[in-house]
Amino acid sequence: MIRVVVSGAAGRMGQTVCDAVDAAGDMELVAKADPALGVELAEALGEADVAVDFSTPDTALANVRACLEAGVHAVVGTTGFDLDALREVAERSEANCFVAPNFAIGAVLLMEAAQSIARHMPECEIVELHHEGKLDAPSGTAKRTAELIRAAGGNVHEPIHSVRLPGLVAHQEVVFGGEGQTLSVRHDSIDRSSFMPGVLLAVRRVGELADRCTVGLEKLL
Ligand code: NAP
Repeated sequence: MIRVVVSGAAGRMGQTVCDAVDAAGDMELVAKADPALGVELAEALGEADVAVDFSTPDTALANVRACLEAGVHAVVGTTGFDLDALREVAERSEANCFVAPNFAIGAVLLMEAAQSIARHMPECEIVELHHEGKLDAPSGTAKRTAELIRAAGGNVHEPIHSVRLPGLVAHQEVVFGGEGQTLSVRHDSIDRSSFMPGVLLAVRRVGELADRCTVGLEKLL
């Protein structure tokens, strides 16, 4: 059994992760950490093998540092914090961390498709759309998509467009423009359950990764 603590357990994603861990036959939910529940992550790490963090941009780095210092592997879904700082923390650690700006397989496939398209139609714009409670903009997924498209030779126009509205969950469209034609690729997470297979896969795999810090769900597929 993999013993899991969930950080941000009272949040939208955290609650969904707790349910998914509870339902997984090979995992045990040993603690739920969240200020709203009166449980500090550092105090909840004692019995855990892996911590899953879906907290806030301001708290994620300190949370992961606490996990790694305690020898607990970390799976991080929180976006909007300094990934380079996290890499530095991880390098000095004895445990691993895995970060994905998007745990949905469809979003990973969108990023792959966008890289292929950019080789032939480089000019593009990204529109990301999320629920009105999202704290960071542009989204971590949009920043990662832009990075990958640019590495493939594409020209992502600035700014990335961020829409925040009630009724949305997590959506992204990349629109490519060429002579006399456009091509759009779009992914929609219409329910937070879309992220759970990716999160559970990361929980199962994080301890065996060769690098201290691994970014991107595609690395596990
Ligand atoms: P949310 O509903 O606001 O949940 C965040 C929770 O973290 C809140 O309950 C918050 O408590 C709690 N929190 C605050 N400080 C904390 C700390 N020091 N330690 C532990 N928990 C703490 O947000 P959400 O919609 O679940 O999203 C959480 C994060 O996941 C965001 O960064 C979002 O962008 C990201 N996300 C990633 C993916 C992905 O696939 N990677 C998918 C969806 C969302 P308070 O309300 O009291 O502050």
